[in-house]
Amino acid sequence: MDTSKPTTIVLGAGVVGLSTALYLQRSGHRTTVIDPLPPGSGASFGNAGLISNDNAVPMALPGMLGKVPGWLADRDGPLVVRPTYLPRALPWLLRWITASRMPRVIQISDALRALHRDALSCWQELLGPELYADLIRQVGQVRLWEGVSDTAVEMALCERHGIRVERLDADALRQIYPDISPGITGGLLMPNNASTISPPRLVRTLGELLVAAGGAIVAESAMKIIPRGGAAGYMVMTNVANRSAHRVVIAAGAWSRELLAPLGIKVPLETERGYHAMMPEHNLTLRIPMLIKNRGFGLAQMEDGLLAAGTVEIAGLRAPPDERRARLLVGHAKRVFPKLEVGEARYWMGHRPSTPDSLPILGEAPGQPGLFLAFGHGHLGMVGGPPSGRLVSQLINGTPPAIDPAPYACARWA
Ligand SMILES: Cc1cc2nc3c(=O)[nH]c(=O)nc-3n(C[C@H](O)[C@H](O)[C@H](O)COP(=O)(O)OP(=O)(O)OC[C@H]3O[C@@H](n4cnc5c(N)ncnc54)[C@H](O)[C@@H]3O)c2cc1C
Repeated sequence: MDTSKPTTIVLGAGVVGLSTALYLQRSGHRTTVIDPLPPGSGASFGNAGLISNDNAVPMALPGMLGKVPGWLADRDGPLVVRPTYLPRALPWLLRWITASRMPRVIQISDALRALHRDALSCWQELLGPELYADLIRQVGQVRLWEGVSDTAVEMALCERHGIRVERLDADALRQIYPDISPGITGGLLMPNNASTISPPRLVRTLGELLVAAGGAIVAESAMKIIPRGGAAGYMVMTNVANRSAHRVVIAAGAWSRELLAPLGIKVPLETERGYHAMMPEHNLTLRIPMLIKNRGFGLAQMEDGLLAAGTVEIAGLRAPPDERRARLLVGHAKRVFPKLEVGEARYWMGHRPSTPDSLPILGEAPGQPGLFLAFGHGHLGMVGGPPSGRLVSQLINGTPPAIDPAPYACARWA
């Protein structure tokens, strides 16, 4: 073991933690990832796999506030809040509304663009050409609405960033998806976006590459981060060990807030729970993955089946899943493709780690030198994870950052 190298512990083996760890390991750190679960078992396991490098649209947009009551009244809608959890979620929801004002939306959009535009080159850098070609496809992405759609803000933000978007009329849509419901008469094609054919395999691969590069992954649960003072760094108390390192990166997704609380650091992190239905047997050919925006879910062809994934449920980290919401996704998919037939589906729930402004929290923790934050990617971790890992590793190494880190700093909530 080379003891002259700086040591870094990364908490969390999701797409964000493993991307960060791999960048650090390759830049000369001795890196250990701690996670009680195998790599890619959190939100990174069951997402829709969309790598929307050409996307700069935050979740909260002007005019959405007016839609929220309708969504909340609809048990089958894209957004539900469990009534018992509402008081806890309220401060976060109010910040979400503040983030939906147009001047702030433009700032957020610029920061999303800066982070996401290099996503594919970061994935390539991490995976190498062969694994990249095996796991990621740049086939584009289609956004659809059942019924009337208002795409004005979305289109304006794309135009601002020079993002290519093609409007699809009913005929063009049918050329891509011959069996789509006649009720859907238009959409937007974003031809430069990418997706993976397997989120779990993609994230597991990052873990394998980390170990191959000399890093370690240990199956433990971090319970407390204890500063050791100055250059001595931090001790991480886990369920079975005390582990010390010069630096610690918190990349524990939706669970990051709990790890920061004992240090007196508060972050507006909430979990937007999402569901998926994996349909191994089906009769659909889906060349290009799609997002059905009014129902808040994605539909994608994965290597092991057709996947419908998405919707938002605000109910915290502890409430049991409401599997009814996962079942609904099968019905939604059949509404888009009336001829769709599927065998038995597998249902899953995951915890998106979400900030109210759709931007992750990246950089050094306030008042804790050597403790770095890398979480809060919400709906966009598969695209934001690798460029976030690059940025955080650059900040740790003191090398010039590829992008301005200021918009992602924790200080924006001070
Ligand atoms: C239904 C759904 C669909 C989605 N679709 C997309 C999509 O198409 N495209 C996209 O870009 N994003 C999508 N997302 C979002 C994306 O999945 C997340 O943003 C991303 O996975 C977050 O990665 P992460 O590494 O921060 O968190 P996670 O993958 O959740 O990893 C966090 C890890 O931290 C570990 N951990 C927790 N507590 C501790 C502790 N005390 N000690 C050590 N480790 C700990 C957990 O076990 C977990 O493995 C979707 C999410 C959902 C739920």
